[in-house]
Amino acid sequence: MPTQHASAKKYRVIVIGAGIGGLTAGALLAHKNYDVLILDQAIVPGGCASTFKRQGFTFDVGATQVAGLEPGGIHHRIFTELGIDLPPATPCDPACAVYLPGETEPINLWRNQQKWKQERQRQFPGSEPFWQLLANLFKASWEFQGRDPVLPPRSLWDLLQLAKAIRPSTLITVPYTLFTVGDALRLCGLGNDQRLRTFLDLQLKLYSQVNAEETALLYAATALSVSQSPQGLYHMQGSMQVLSDRLVATLERDGGKLLMRHIVKSIQVNKGKATGVVIRNQKTGEVWTEAADHVVANVTSQDLVRLLGDKAPSGYKKRVERLHPPSGAFVVYLGVDTKAIPPNCPPHLQFMYDADGPIGENNSLFVSVSHPGDGRAPTDKATIIASSFVDTEYWDKAANYTLIKKRCTEETISRLSQYFDLTPETIIYQEAATPLTFARFTGRDKGIVGGIGQRLSTFGPFGFANRTPIKDLWLVGDSTHPGEGTAGVSYSAMTVVRQIEHA
Ligand SMILES: Cc1cc2nc3c(=O)[nH]c(=O)nc-3n(C[C@H](O)[C@H](O)[C@H](O)COP(=O)(O)OP(=O)(O)OC[C@H]3O[C@@H](n4cnc5c(N)ncnc54)[C@H](O)[C@@H]3O)c2cc1C
Repeated sequence: MPTQHASAKKYRVIVIGAGIGGLTAGALLAHKNYDVLILDQAIVPGGCASTFKRQGFTFDVGATQVAGLEPGGIHHRIFTELGIDLPPATPCDPACAVYLPGETEPINLWRNQQKWKQERQRQFPGSEPFWQLLANLFKASWEFQGRDPVLPPRSLWDLLQLAKAIRPSTLITVPYTLFTVGDALRLCGLGNDQRLRTFLDLQLKLYSQVNAEETALLYAATALSVSQSPQGLYHMQGSMQVLSDRLVATLERDGGKLLMRHIVKSIQVNKGKATGVVIRNQKTGEVWTEAADHVVANVTSQDLVRLLGDKAPSGYKKRVERLHPPSGAFVVYLGVDTKAIPPNCPPHLQFMYDADGPIGENNSLFVSVSHPGDGRAPTDKATIIASSFVDTEYWDKAANYTLIKKRCTEETISRLSQYFDLTPETIIYQEAATPLTFARFTGRDKGIVGGIGQRLSTFGPFGFANRTPIKDLWLVGDSTHPGEGTAGVSYSAMTVVRQIEHA
């Protein structure tokens, strides 16, 4: 049913999508007395950071680790503003144990800065100048980001916010704006250190979608440093769903509304201004147009263009079409007996293999393992979630989808068996998700995940803005600055809320 306009409220805002980006924007706006309606096509809110339950196991769909929970971190700031407690979480230490091809000893990303320094000096002799450069750039970038710049600026007000965030200390980052990690390695005389490069490729692909040669250095400085204290990566107690659930509760506490199983079919634009959305109730089939003063789209830039149809500005559309093909994910979810898990298994592991998988999976697996008492598995059981990057076009056109999915699952389990004791006796439950699964459950074009690659041409100052060329239409989520991850999309949501307040 169409929702009533609450006239005592400030302005009517419709949010398309209840991912962490949409929920954060919606909750913050409702808290500021806007009249907020969030619509999501799925059954459960949270998008790529939601969960599902099977046979007593709770599986995180996509995101398994969270940054920004420490005081001053973005989730911490937003939850404080909303007047609610952050859900309990445990710091991951090491944040990740990385196994390079053919190696049996991992590279441990320790949380303690000193311990991580010793580890990297032992693992990559002679590389300290590179890490020191990263540390200096991270310090300046982190302080700059903490002053809430708007990137990329698209209005005078945005430009002012950017200017206000700049300090003399920020200027040390300027000469590196057009540097990639590959350039920095060469600058530090490490261009031929293949082992270091392989490690960086592996880690950066997780956060930036691209390898060291292509990743923008200023982005990498943050991505490679947030796992150390006083920042850090965390496992939420229970599941990732707790983050979304708290945001939904706050939204509703402050008079906002969330309608699940409601898909937005198109965004209405009149004379260059967003005026509302066309909604379809997936249960009843009812279709109607809902008017809004502002529309916040928590979708990919590709989906934004689709929702605008012939109202999409041609320059914007062309830019989206010219983007490098984004990645999809192939994810295997296992419910296992704890006998399958080696003693002292870290919460996250990354494995790299000599070759790509047989069906377009890339040559690495990112693995998240539950721990006793973390709420994801019954006593003496655990969950293992393993993901690899895949080509969405391949899966989109796959003729023998079921067969290929089965082969891919078997190959993933076989690779995981080099570390875990995975047998028919220890595997209690198994399921896999392909780009088609992600397309269906998160509404993302072809199941693309993780946002736009953080190449020089698309990171920070050169990326997609929250302010779109259509007036009062805003983009939040991992297509915008500062990129993917629940922390990144929360930052983008906070920016949009500030922009709407000053619109
Ligand atoms: C396998 C995998 C592992 C990851 N691991 C991590 C990790 O460990 N840590 C981390 O921080 N990040 C991780 N990420 C990235 C992180 O999950 C995402 O960047 C982030 O959750 C994206 O949030 P979002 O709000 O931008 O969008 P989404 O999560 O995509 O949410 C968008 C929402 O909009 C809805 N929607 C879309 N179109 C419509 C429409 N037309 N009408 C109505 N509703 C619509 C969808 O149903 C969805 O709920 C991972 C991602 C994947 C896929």
